[in-house]
Amino acid sequence: MQIDILTLFPETFEGPFSQSIIRRALEKKLATITLHNIRDYSTGKHKTVDDYAFGGGAGMVMMIEPVARCIEHLTEKTSYDEVIYMSPDGELLTQSVANQLSMLKNIIILCGHYKGIDERIREHFITREISIGDYVLSGGELPAAVLTDTILRLLPGVLNDETSALSDSFQDNLLSPPVYTRPAEFRGWKVPDILLSGNDKEIVKWRYEQSVERTRKRRPGLLEGEK
Ligand code: SAH
Repeated sequence: MQIDILTLFPETFEGPFSQSIIRRALEKKLATITLHNIRDYSTGKHKTVDDYAFGGGAGMVMMIEPVARCIEHLTEKTSYDEVIYMSPDGELLTQSVANQLSMLKNIIILCGHYKGIDERIREHFITREISIGDYVLSGGELPAAVLTDTILRLLPGVLNDETSALSDSFQDNLLSPPVYTRPAEFRGWKVPDILLSGNDKEIVKWRYEQSVERTRKRRPGLLEGEK
C-alpha cells in the first residue's frame, strides 16, 4: 500500500512513523509513506501557502493553488483509490472505516492547518473526509498519523500473531476483554483463576463473556450494531 501525505509540517510525522508497528510495516516494505511538503508547490515569491479569508474574520486559510498543484502532480502519475481530507466535520473514523481503507492500494491524505483549506479543494479533489473525533486540533497531521496507524496495523504481516488485530476492540463490534501478565499475584491482587487453568476452551468462553459484559456496560450501542 502506498500512502501520500500532503502537509505543511512534515517533521510532525518523524516520531510516530519511526517507532513500533508503523516502523515495522515500513521496514518490511508492506507499506510506503511519502510526505509531500505543500509549501514546495507554492509559486509565490515567498512560498506563501495561506491567506486571509474572503469575507473577513479571524484565522488564515490554506490557499487553493499549492494544494491543487501538489495533488495534480501526484494524480498525473498514479491513480488513487481515495483522496482523503482530515477534517473535524468529516465522517467519524471507526474500525470499519479503517478496515475499508486497509484494502486500498493508493491513497492521498491531505492535512489542513489554520482555519482549514479553501473549500474548492474539497469540492474538486477530495473523495472522502475523515474526522478522528468531535474536537478540534491545530492541524491534520496528528489525525493523519492516527489514521495511518490504524490502517497499517491491519495490513497482513504487520502484526505478529500474538498481537493480531482480530482480537482487538471494535472488530466484531465488541470491546476487548481484560488482559493480564506475570506475576499472577501482585500485592495480593490476583489474576482470574480461569486464565491460569490451562483450559483453552473455558478461557475462550470467559474472554467472550468478558467482552460482551464490558461492551454492555461501556458501549451498549455497539451491541445494537452502532458503527
Ligand atoms: N475551522 C475548522 C477547523 C480547522 S482546524 C473547523 O472548525 O471545522 C485545522 C485543521 O486541522 C483542519 O483543516 C483539519 O485538517 C485538522 N483537524 C482538526 N481537527 C480535526 C479532527 N477532529 N479530525 C481530523 N482533522 C482535524
